[in-house]
Order: sequence, then C-alpha cells, then structure tokens
Amino acid sequence: MTALKAIDKTTINIEKIRADFPILSRKVNGKPLIYFDNGATAQKPQQVIDRIDHYYSYENANIHRGVHTLSRDITIGYENARAAIQKHLNAANPCEIIFTKGTTDAINLVASSFSKRFISKGDEIIVSVMEHHSNILPWQQVCEEKEAVLKVIPINDAGELVLDEYNKLLNEKTKIIAIAHVSNTLGTINPIKEIISAAHARNIPVLVDGAQAVPHLKVDVQELDCDFYCFSGHKVFGPTGIGVLYGKEKWLNQIPPYQVGGGTIKTVSFEKTEYADIPLKFEAGTPDIAGTLGLATAIDYINEIGLDAITTYEHELLVYATEKLQKLQGVKILGTAKEKAGVLSFIVEGIHPFDIGTILDQMGIAVRTGHHCTQPLVAYYRVPGTVRVSFAFYNTFEEINVFIKGLEKAIIMLK
Ligand code: PMP
Repeated sequence: MTALKAIDKTTINIEKIRADFPILSRKVNGKPLIYFDNGATAQKPQQVIDRIDHYYSYENANIHRGVHTLSRDITIGYENARAAIQKHLNAANPCEIIFTKGTTDAINLVASSFSKRFISKGDEIIVSVMEHHSNILPWQQVCEEKEAVLKVIPINDAGELVLDEYNKLLNEKTKIIAIAHVSNTLGTINPIKEIISAAHARNIPVLVDGAQAVPHLKVDVQELDCDFYCFSGHKVFGPTGIGVLYGKEKWLNQIPPYQVGGGTIKTVSFEKTEYADIPLKFEAGTPDIAGTLGLATAIDYINEIGLDAITTYEHELLVYATEKLQKLQGVKILGTAKEKAGVLSFIVEGIHPFDIGTILDQMGIAVRTGHHCTQPLVAYYRVPGTVRVSFAFYNTFEEINVFIKGLEKAIIMLK
C-alpha cells in the first residue's frame, strides 16, 4: 500500500458530515451502529432522502411525454440529472450518459447489445480473476450464445493484475475487455489507463466496472479514454435501483437497443420502427425518475466534500485499520496491492468469517462476510470467503478502534 500522504485534517468535517446521515445515529443490537459495509451499499444523506421525498410530494409526473407543466418541469429535472453525471465523469456529451438500474444492468446492456453487433464464433472476451460476478456472468452468457471464448487475466498474491499476462492475451480475436476499476473484495485499484491504452493499440474497446471506484476516486472518462464505464447509484450515497452507463458516442450509435418499448423510438408502424437517438434509444419505459434526481443530489453532496479530500481521508482510515489489523494474531489480510481503496478483506486462522460477522453484528458493527460475489477470486486464495470492512468518508478512527477491540473479543470467544 502506498505510504500515508500528508493529511489536512480540516478537509473533512466529520461531525457535520455524520449529522447529515440519519441512520448513523441509530443503535443496532443496543450499540451505536458502526457501518463498515459501504462496499455493499452506502448510506444516504438527508439531502438525498429529501430530494426523493420532494419529487413524490410535489413534482411527480412522467418525463418526455406531456405538454403540461409538471411533465415539462420534471423532464428538465431528469435531463439536468443526466448533465450532472456527465459533468461528474467529464463525459464529452450528455447523450453518452444512459440511466440504468445499476452496474449489473449496465454491464448486461453492453454485453447483450455489443455482442449482437460485434461478437461471433471464436472471438475472445477478456475479464480478470478479480471481477464481480456481475462482470463475469453477462460475458459468460455471451460466450455460450456466440461460441466465443472468455479469457481471464491472472493476479499475483498481492491481488494485482499480472499485466504481462494481460498483454499476452491480447490478439486479433479479442473483441472487448471488461475490467473492474477497483476490486470490491481486495480494494485493488487497477491500472486501467494502461490496460485501456494497450487495448486501444489494437483497436479493442474496454468496459470499466466502476462500481467501487466512483464512491472513492475522481473518475474522468475522457482522460481514461475508456469506451464504457458503469456505476451504481446506491454505492455513491444515492438511491437503489438507479445506475449509470457511460458509453462513447461512437459505440452507443453502433450497437442496437437493449430493451425496446416506450421512449426508445422516433416512429413506429407495423412495417418498420425507427429508434430514437442516444441516450433515449437505451432507456425503454418509464425510468426511475426519483432515482435520477436522488443520484444527482448524491453526486452534488460528494462534490461539496470534494473527491480529493474523500480519497485522502479514506486512505488514512485504510492505513490506520491495516496497521491495527496486522498486529492481531492469526489474522491474514487478503489484498495487499500497492494501490488500494478503502477495503480490507481478511481471514482469521481456524475461524469461519460468518461467525466473526455474526459476533460483530451483536456489537452493532456491520461488516460483510462471504465470497462478495467474487467466487473465482476467493477460490484463487483457497478460502471459503473473507470478512470485509469497507469504508466511506463518514467512518472514523474511533470506529476502527471499537471494531478492533470487538474483533479481538470475537476471536477469543471463537477460538
Ligand atoms: N461490480 C462491482 C465491483 C461491485 O462491487 C458490485 C456490487 N457489489 C457490482 C458490480 C454490482 O453492482 P449492483 O448490484 O449495484 O448492480
């Protein structure tokens, strides 16, 4: 892990931030909640909750359809949300932002539509060992349907991609690469810029699964030069059921719609249907309007704190927790990459992760246990699963102290 950078502690006003999240003041099993399961889903600030409430209370109407005031106003609100995401990712054009149900939905969209146009028998698709199931199964299904071949980038024991092996996998049959920006199980930040430039040298497009990156890092899709990038609203302090697919205009224009129906068309007749331009071509049916507004509010919230401050603060939490955890006997951390986001996965010799998670829960500490939807990765490490602690900017050093004490107790009880 990279050494601790100098921290300007004034950049994160932790008391003010925590006061924005109502759930953080509740008790669980009689103890103050310590929420360390941000990789699964993040908590929501009052501003996001209020935005959704306001929409349903005073603004509810359908978009893109009505001439009446409510409909026109909310269409503007919805498109403003798209523009906010465009700005946040630094996409070149708002039409490159597609609202989806989440990361899984976005990857399925690309796998399905891209493969219809560009994948045939014998072609190859590259993923990595550390992918979430959501970035494996859609491609596995494409391979079954098209008789294509899934190739897998290996990792080293630190949980870093082996780039030499990646470069060896690239060839004229490779049609797309689908890779996580940040591993949800290990926290590894992958060198996706390098991965993309090697792929582009052979004209191969790259999809980046940014589900675990957007909550923690500044992402600039033009700087990365990725072809597709996706993330989920609920992991960036926004609502569930909403997510984003960024796609370069040139690709989105070439691939067919994923689902079809209302909203996706220019004209329909029984003889011929003409589809709408992007982004509407990919947004069939009434979307999660409240979700888009809540997501845009969440993005505003993050930007108000500042992503540089968030990244730095979370890095400090990670270094602090790593040092404490390393000192505990029998604890082994999985994922020791040089570049890591705020995720700590570990196992304790002779104790099942599930038992540790259950005892910590009794202490009000929420951690995740299991395979984290990365079965091929935990199989690589030959473990049944891990205990995973994943941080957000509202977590504190004091919470880490309580967690470490709780873990020590749990280990004594279970040994
Ligand atoms: N990819 C990664 C790296 C993830 O961490 C997750 C969620 N754990 C997903 C994809 C799937 O996200 P969602 O369930 O929001 O679609």
